Amino acid sequence: MNFIKKYFSLLLIIIISIFITSGCTSSISSNTTEPYNGLKVHYIDVGQGDSELIQVNGKNLLIDAGPNESRDKLMSYLKKQNIKKFDYVIATHPDEDHIGGMGDVIKKYPIDKFYTPKKIVNTKTFKYMIQQLRNKNMKIDTPEPGIKLDLGKNTTAEMLAPNSMNYPDTNNYSVVLKITYGNTKFLFTGDAEKTSESEIIDKGYDLSADVLKVGHHGSSGSTSQQFLDKVDPKIAIISCGKNNKYGHPHKKTINKLKKKNIQIYRTDVDGTIILMSNGSKISKNE
Ligand SMILES: [Zn+2]
Repeated sequence: MNFIKKYFSLLLIIIISIFITSGCTSSISSNTTEPYNGLKVHYIDVGQGDSELIQVNGKNLLIDAGPNESRDKLMSYLKKQNIKKFDYVIATHPDEDHIGGMGDVIKKYPIDKFYTPKKIVNTKTFKYMIQQLRNKNMKIDTPEPGIKLDLGKNTTAEMLAPNSMNYPDTNNYSVVLKITYGNTKFLFTGDAEKTSESEIIDKGYDLSADVLKVGHHGSSGSTSQQFLDKVDPKIAIISCGKNNKYGHPHKKTINKLKKKNIQIYRTDVDGTIILMSNGSKISKNE
């Protein structure tokens, strides 16, 4: 009798501890500040603009820094992630909605390598970014197709664009980056438009990806059918502001994505979107 009692209480303890452990696990996975043993991509809600934080193997990569009006929001988000330094920062192109918070990021964080295309614009935001780089004696690295970033084991990150040094508008200067982690692939396109997309296709790059950060906030000038077919993503991320004055994303783009049964997430609807890859599967943080 005593033995059975003991046996049951032991069983009870085991069951309770399993419950506690699984409870903890789910609370950890919903806590964005915990280090994750895989690849974590944050499509940060910066309103009408772009900013993505990529974390893998203890390394941090920031692509773009949103518009001026979201500077404080971005800085507090990065602070919450307990980031000590960036291994890489990329300003895809010099438009305000991508480099608004860049000056502050450069001022606050140590950065190993800073990439931005050789395109000078005459704006306060751009000058502030350059000033902060000068203050820290940082050099600017020029992005080129084929450049690979070192994000540690199991990971490759390769630039696919810009493929020219001269475009009539700033958007096509955008750095396009493909990150592969295990068997999962993420494509980041900045504001690259159809001109850049067709150059990438002509170069014969393998564009296939599970997740596409849709070019130029879902505008109709990006995401040509040919490009979308080559990428053939399962998930599309659109970074844009609520009721933005540009009408992003364009209905045509949404329809193209829907036609291919691609799961769409939008920062104006879903807020910050966090995707996690364990190398074979991608999951979304709730
Ligand atoms: Zn933009």
